Amino acid sequence: MNKIIRQDLQEVDAFLQEVKDYSVSHLLEIDALPVKAASATFERLELPRKGKGASNALQQFNERYGQHLAGNSGPRNWGFVTGGATLPAIAGDWLTTVFDMNAADKDTAPLQIETETIAMLRQLFGLPEAFSGCFVTGATMANFAGLAIARQWLGKQLGVDVAQEGMAALANAKIVSCTPHSSTVKSLAMLGFGRNAMLKLSSLPERESIDIKVLKEYLEAHKGEPLIVVASAGTVNTVDFDDLEAIAELKNEYGFWLHVDAAFGAFAACVAEHRHLLNGWEAADSITIDAHKWLNVPYDAAMIFTRHTDLQLDTFKNAGAAYLGDPAKDFKYSNYTPENSRRLRALPAWYTLVAYGADGYADIVNNNIQLARRLGALIQENAAFRLLAPVRLCVVCFTLNVADEEKQAATDALIKALDESGKVMLTPTVYQGVPAIRAALVNWRTEENDLSIVWEEIKRQAAVLTVE
Ligand SMILES: *Cc1c(COP(=O)(O)O)cnc(C)c1O
Repeated sequence: MNKIIRQDLQEVDAFLQEVKDYSVSHLLEIDALPVKAASATFERLELPRKGKGASNALQQFNERYGQHLAGNSGPRNWGFVTGGATLPAIAGDWLTTVFDMNAADKDTAPLQIETETIAMLRQLFGLPEAFSGCFVTGATMANFAGLAIARQWLGKQLGVDVAQEGMAALANAKIVSCTPHSSTVKSLAMLGFGRNAMLKLSSLPERESIDIKVLKEYLEAHKGEPLIVVASAGTVNTVDFDDLEAIAELKNEYGFWLHVDAAFGAFAACVAEHRHLLNGWEAADSITIDAHKWLNVPYDAAMIFTRHTDLQLDTFKNAGAAYLGDPAKDFKYSNYTPENSRRLRALPAWYTLVAYGADGYADIVNNNIQLARRLGALIQENAAFRLLAPVRLCVVCFTLNVADEEKQAATDALIKALDESGKVMLTPTVYQGVPAIRAALVNWRTEENDLSIVWEEIKRQAAVLTVE
């Protein structure tokens, strides 16, 4: 063994203690760090001829990057839809790495852990047993996997095994949606449908939810054509939900594949008052749910749920590799997901679900919703701002009350000023043609006091802008 490597191995205890101390100091000061790291450029480090060992690498990392690490997973990162990582989730992630098990093997603890975690998640979301699930790297891959299984189903309607024979039979397939996430369109590009296969139907007035009448008309006019409907359970700008019950009824009548993108909207199921938003989703053929957002586990984790494991196997199996066994006989998750060798990404979720249970998640979700609604109310009552949509769950979408032609520059300037304040991170968007700002609250640490800090800062920065 290389001398330096051997020495590190002998000092495992001292080294991991150092890493622990380093981690704890970050977690304790996360509130005080700027939320968004200032942009920085770095001179590139060359590959060393001889390394100086683990402890020295930690030291070099801290010297180079320590000052540039921000409170990204802290309580006031309200940009995109960004969860943090609960302490048990961090432990699960750390141990995933320590044990470094390949969650592709059959009959092993990792397989059992993934299956058990999926079952707990099904309970958390109140999904029927008929849904099986697997972990993938994020909601983009969950959408990809769901649509890949849908593609297999479409082919089957035409008597073609698309996984085997390719896409030729599906040249005219359409994917219908109203306000799809960009990752759905990206998935169409990756799957050979092409981005142009996406057909966006119109929404209800002042909404991001599909107009069911328009969908019905479309279905009537295109009876018998290969079709996937992608429904949104929580859009990123206004957390709007398609009417899943009505879509389920249409599915009965017209027989399309229904994929529901519930990346973060699924968490409405955790709170009794909001569960109804998901009514009808049990009729879906596939459902995407993210874990690294509202479940608050570290990147990269999401789940794809489906009721069609046979088609899923047809899509993702490793066929004809003797050393991998017979996909039809040996159950392995690697025959159901895009990845073959797989990190045990169920483990962080397992830890946090066991640690906090259904009540813990109801509290996290409910708390975020209450705070988002309070922010929405404050914005609505203040003449400097305009709330652009009701705060349905965890996202507040608003703009500045300035002349239309100044809106873009004003919202950009406000976001930049807030970034520089270090107190909060928000993201720009355009909602129904209006330049706007989004605040998305899905972090387990966010509290009352964070709302006060952010609201004071937003008002202060907006006032500075208008005076200028
Ligand atoms: C975030 C998000 C995605 C994509 O998720 P990643 O985890 O970034 O891959 C897809 N759909 C919706 C609705 C989302 O909010």
